[in-house]
Amino acid sequence: MNETNVRRKTKKCPYCNKIITGRTDKMFCDDRCRNNFYYKVNNEQKTYIRKINNILLKNRGILRSINPSGRTSVPRRYLEELGFDFDCFTSVHKTQKGRLYYLVYDQAYSFDEDERISLVVFYRDAQAVVS
Ligand SMILES: [Zn+2]
Repeated sequence: MNETNVRRKTKKCPYCNKIITGRTDKMFCDDRCRNNFYYKVNNEQKTYIRKINNILLKNRGILRSINPSGRTSVPRRYLEELGFDFDCFTSVHKTQKGRLYYLVYDQAYSFDEDERISLVVFYRDAQAVVS
């Protein structure tokens, strides 16, 4: 066996946690462990993305339902009571005056004084809507 192929440190299979024997570049015990590992990782990623998407869609639904005219202002507490998640948005828009609008797709919100939230329908490409 070539010297570079000799295992010097023990390496464990990331799926079953058994010590891997054989070539140093071997990552998993066998094809089954490799397939199971990537299946698990893929599932975890899908579950995570689904969870975030659900929060975003719920947030958008809340904003849309209380802002049918496209521009309004509500107390922050009102959004909280509806289960709005302020940590979950799709992008941030900063106006020329430095005001930040948090977008949930096309629904934007911004923090006002007195614990109020301004809501506006806003498309990222149409920058002139919010100034
Ligand atoms: Zn394994």
